[in-house]
Amino acid sequence: MNNKKPNILLIYTGGTIGMVKDFKTGSLRAFNFKNLLKRIPELQLLDCNIETVSFENPIDSSNMNPEYWVQIAEIIEGNYTEFDGFVVLHGSDTMSYTTSALSFMLENLAKPVIFTGSQLPIGDLRTDAKENLITSIQLASIQNKGKPVIKEVCLYFEYKLYRGNRTTKLNAEHFQAFASMNYPDLAESGVHLKINNEYLFHPNLNKKFTVHKKLNDNIALIKLFPGISQSVIKSVFNTPGLKAVIIETYGAGNCTTEDWFVNILHEQISKGIYIINVTQCSGGSVIMGHYETSSQLKKIGVVSGKDITTEAALAKLMFLLGQNNFDDNTFKTIFERPLCGEIS
Ligand code: ASP
Repeated sequence: MNNKKPNILLIYTGGTIGMVKDFKTGSLRAFNFKNLLKRIPELQLLDCNIETVSFENPIDSSNMNPEYWVQIAEIIEGNYTEFDGFVVLHGSDTMSYTTSALSFMLENLAKPVIFTGSQLPIGDLRTDAKENLITSIQLASIQNKGKPVIKEVCLYFEYKLYRGNRTTKLNAEHFQAFASMNYPDLAESGVHLKINNEYLFHPNLNKKFTVHKKLNDNIALIKLFPGISQSVIKSVFNTPGLKAVIIETYGAGNCTTEDWFVNILHEQISKGIYIINVTQCSGGSVIMGHYETSSQLKKIGVVSGKDITTEAALAKLMFLLGQNNFDDNTFKTIFERPLCGEIS
């Protein structure tokens, strides 16, 4: 590799970007990564050294799971000293879950890890894949005095770079598929690449890069709706081994004040189950106690998800439960505090 140019590792996990249409069924399926690179000769014009590595069997990201997250983290860990930046090609469907998970798993990350993908396959005439891929590599290559400028897990899609753990997939067909409703864009691609330095994450560079691989998936997610029944809520809490539940509430963290509901939650919290309040709204924050319909949650010890996304809340929960046993108050304090810019 040329010493002066940044070294970028391109990691292919699957997704539409590298898919082809199956002639028999007409469905899109993942295909060989080598063919993907042949389709973008422009990559050789970039001012960096690019090496590639691929999942042995690339996946549609709807099949993503914590074991694959560990696989991505291990690829980054194994190549961390040799490369200056990482670009991960990933299906858009669950990309926000993966960027959230990796942001917790890669502690004290001091290099860019940029996830991208596309809505149309790279071989499609109208594809959005080329711009997404080329700009992601350029962003991962930006350096200041020989050091990477971006030092966090990001998501790049349709001219915008976002903090990965702040994103949500909002649209299944627009090229602009993602949004970061509660945190400003980290960069924009126009005639120039405009980096919004003030919003970038600044890790403590004196601390050692550490990869966490233990995740606990004994968790559940309940989305409230008017009319949700007692038996549905009870059946979730009856799940064997359950450690924590995220409740997607209305607006600023509100829910029904009916006794049966609050009593079930109270009973579960007394048993040591953590309950986290995250809003169903795409933007804004949970403020328990703001309305009467949330003050009872505050009183019984529900954890506030504040302005976290559901994706980041699920990932943070799996990560924290995988680390240690906490006493109830420590867990609440840690969950409500930002670990890597996921919460305000
Ligand atoms: N189903 C695809 C996936 O997430 C969609 C995409 O790549 O955008 O893998």
